[in-house]
Parts: sequence; structure tokens; C-alpha cells
Amino acid sequence: MPSSYAPKVGDTIDSLDTPSMIVDLNVMESNIKKLFTHFLPTGVNIRPHLKTTKSAVLAQRLVAAGAKGGCVAKLSEAEVMCELGFTDLLITCEVVGAVKVNRLVELFNKFRSIRIVVDSIVGTKAIDDALEASGINEPITTIIDLDVGLHRTGVQPGETALALAKFVGESKHLNLIGVQGYEGHLQHVHGFEERKKLCLESMAILTQTAEAFREAGHKIDVVTTGGTGTSEFCVTVPGITEIQPGSFLFMDTDYRNAVGTHYEQSLFILSTVISNQGPTIVTIDAGLKSLTTDSGLAECKALGYTYGVLGDEHGSLEWEDIALKLKIGDKVEMVPSHIDPTINLHDFYYAHRNGVIEEIWKVDSRGKVQ
Ligand code: PLP
Ligand code: MN
Repeated sequence: MPSSYAPKVGDTIDSLDTPSMIVDLNVMESNIKKLFTHFLPTGVNIRPHLKTTKSAVLAQRLVAAGAKGGCVAKLSEAEVMCELGFTDLLITCEVVGAVKVNRLVELFNKFRSIRIVVDSIVGTKAIDDALEASGINEPITTIIDLDVGLHRTGVQPGETALALAKFVGESKHLNLIGVQGYEGHLQHVHGFEERKKLCLESMAILTQTAEAFREAGHKIDVVTTGGTGTSEFCVTVPGITEIQPGSFLFMDTDYRNAVGTHYEQSLFILSTVISNQGPTIVTIDAGLKSLTTDSGLAECKALGYTYGVLGDEHGSLEWEDIALKLKIGDKVEMVPSHIDPTINLHDFYYAHRNGVIEEIWKVDSRGKVQ
């Protein structure tokens, strides 16, 4: 132990060293309640995306609220979650490459409940061959990833998708059960009506493909999609069986700007003013290593201050209103602009109620990018 500093339950957040990632439990619980109250009655399964939380404790909490399993982005996240006892997982990124396929086989050997997606014949064949060589005689549950407009991954709809479904259907070690079509390009479209219109267009591609697979003789039980910005539209579409929202738990400025404040900000980066650089500008100890910038700059929770990046370890807070003031030693709460990669920068969540820490959660799959 390099120091005796060891925050514990019962401490106040004021006693935390900074930067620290803090969660307002009242707000987080309210976000969970809102989502599940809204979506459970629709009958559509909720399989939250754990790329946001990266925490097995929070994954279990979402299941207690009504979630049916969870999603992870990468295989290495699945490895961590499974070892922590959370095994009902869909890995939403393609598992490609010999090393990763071997890791997948090892994981599947221990945890038969994991689900994978495929979007190519070559990728499918590699997994089928590896499972054949392994001697495991149970097929792995497989979902075809379809491109519904994001142009990131996913097989193209139409003949190419049908050919892939045929190939997966005939692969001895893969059990085709569904289609995934993630409309990630629409999550942050501003304007309810515009987002709804575009989302319904993507959902039509997804449900029509599911139907075409069924007509070709495949048993398609799972049609999975949706994020925080679109789930409310996805659940209205007949044929959608599952949604995958993640960011709703904590939110960020990018989502707030796009979808409004139905879900509220529950996670903040606590930071300290460490230097005074002028009458209306100070330096805080949160820079690029604490707050991401891909979706714009973070904001200060207290209004009237503008954040600027001063490098890896530092940021500035500047103000115009002379009634405002920050001084060395003051603590500020910063609002992340993009929640998933921000959480990936921190080791622990300090979850508090009214300033008193109630729980400390590890960011279990932090750094698991493989
Ligand atoms: N599903 C997939 C495949 C994703 O990649 C993501 C996020 O990138 C989500 C669901 C969750 O979206 P959000 O965190 O925006 O709710
Ligand atoms: Mn994200």
C-alpha cells in the first residue's frame, strides 16, 4: 500500500481524493425505475449494454430490476463478467481472429450461456471449425448482426444476409436464434420526431430481414436492437423482442443535448481546483485522463463555468459572471460528455446518497478492449 488512503462506506464524498468518479444513487435508481417502468409492460426483453457500467454488481442490480441478461461489447469483457458470475451475456461485437476465437471457445467451454454475433461467412466458419476441433458438442447460440444503417458492422440486408443465415443455419456448432441490428448512428439525432422517423426506418430493415430469415426456414426468436436514444421507438415495432440500452443509467451531456432530461445525470467526476490562473480562471485536476473529449467537452455541474482541456492531467474552469468564484482547494463536479469511455478511465465508482458513500463498485471490465 503506497498510502493509508482507503475510502470506505460511510465516508463523505468531501473526503475523497480527486479526481474520483461519484454516483448519485438517488438519481441512478430513478433512471433505472424510469426505464423499467416504461419498458417492462411492453413485453420486450431488456438486455442492458454493460459496456457502460463495466460492473458485475450493477449488472446484477439491473437484473433485479427486470433485465434479462446483459450485453457486452468485447469478448474480454465477457470473460470478466462470466468469472464474476454474470453469464447471461450477448457479445455484440464480432469475434474475429484466431486468438480471439480460441478465447471464445475456452469461455464457451466454461459458460454455455454466452451468445455471439456473426456478420460474415469467413467469421462463422472460423468459429465453427474451432468448436469442431474443441470436441464441445453443444452449439453456441448465435445471432446474425445486420447493418441497419450504422455501417460499422453487420451483414448487408437482402441476399447477402440470407446467404449468411443459410451458412450459419448449416454450421454444426452454431445455433442461429436471431438478428441484431444496432442503429448507433441514430442515438444522438436531435429532435424526437426526426429520431423516431429514422429509427422506424432502421427497424423496418431489421424486422423485414427477420421475416425473410423465417420464410427461408430459420427459427428466429430474438430480434435485438436499441440504445438509450431509440429504445422508446424500437419497443413499439412489432417483431422487436429485445432492447440494449446502456447509457441511461448515468447519462452524459451528449445524450442530454440529444434526448433531453428524461433520464438525469447521475455520474460526475469530482475534481479539485489546484491553481489560480487569473481573476476569472482556475485550473482543476481533471484533464484528458479523467474526462473524454470525443463527444465535446465536459461541463461543470455548477452553472456559469466553462471547461477547457489543459492536457492529460489538467483542465481549466473559466467564468464571466463576477458574482462567481472558485478558489484553490474547492471541489467541483464535472459532467462527462461521453459516459462509456469516461468510466473506462476510472477504477472505482463511489456511490453516495446525499453526500455519504453507500457503496463502492469496481469498474470490473475497465480496459477490456480486446
Ligand atoms: N447496443 C450496441 C451494439 C452498442 O454498441 C451500444 C452502444 O454503443 C448500445 C447497445 C447501448 O447504447 P447506449 O449506451 O447509447 O444506450
Ligand atoms: Mn457510447
